[in-house]
Amino acid sequence: MEVTGRFAPSPTGPLHLGSLVAALGSYLFAKRDHGRWLVRMEDLDAPRVVPGAAQEILATLQRYGLQWDGDVVYQSMRTALYESALDRLRAKNLVYDCGCSRAELQRAASAPVDGETIYPGTCRNGLPPGRVPRAIRFRASDEEIVFDDRLCGRIEAKADDFVVRRADGVFAYQLAVVVDDAEQGVTQVVRGRDLLASTPRQIALQRALGYPTPEYAHLPLVLNADGSKLGKRDGALPLPTLDDERVAQTKAWALDFLNLRERTDPAT
Ligand code: GLU
Repeated sequence: MEVTGRFAPSPTGPLHLGSLVAALGSYLFAKRDHGRWLVRMEDLDAPRVVPGAAQEILATLQRYGLQWDGDVVYQSMRTALYESALDRLRAKNLVYDCGCSRAELQRAASAPVDGETIYPGTCRNGLPPGRVPRAIRFRASDEEIVFDDRLCGRIEAKADDFVVRRADGVFAYQLAVVVDDAEQGVTQVVRGRDLLASTPRQIALQRALGYPTPEYAHLPLVLNADGSKLGKRDGALPLPTLDDERVAQTKAWALDFLNLRERTDPAT
């Protein structure tokens, strides 16, 4: 079977070193396996999308020699697909309306996992009286999800009742990513380790929707000096694109990070 990998940036700002590692890592995994490498713009969260960022990201990928196969897909154009997946889940009673507000959930949470609160199940058996439906949640089973990550080894975890459509009507990342990976024929998901905790949820959704599960490899993260994940929100520098030498140095740094750069034999 032909390998199909992908890079799925959110166009909320320019690419930085952390996103270059994810792009390069997913590209190299796919190309080493003689596969295709797709690019998908995850632009569902309209208020966070920065005008022009998608074009800038694509130009930067090309500047770094990362040419994608086929057409770039934009999630904002694909809501009909997410709607129909949600209908299928609804028909199987695998989703339910949730009337909890963010503040209530934070108060109820005993132990957040990876910075996320685990849903306490308040609306699982029907909306309590006086509540209005807000978000839509997946009804997770008790099943243990087990998979072998190509870099992190065997992972075993249960999915929780996560949100598939937000209170503002936007389809959640978890649903969109599962539908798109399946509809685009993605067989290999290579991305940052910050998304490892999302993978059992995505596998649970794949099973509920009758989709195959791709193989996974979660890459180490590029960190700030204080150990936090480098990200756009805390001002990570955009990748250099103007000066050839700086582009080459930055790419070499990312290859070093992935432990893939040629080195001279220290004995010579
Ligand atoms: N859009 C996500 C991000 O930029 C990545 C999603 C994924 O690779 O599954 O963090």
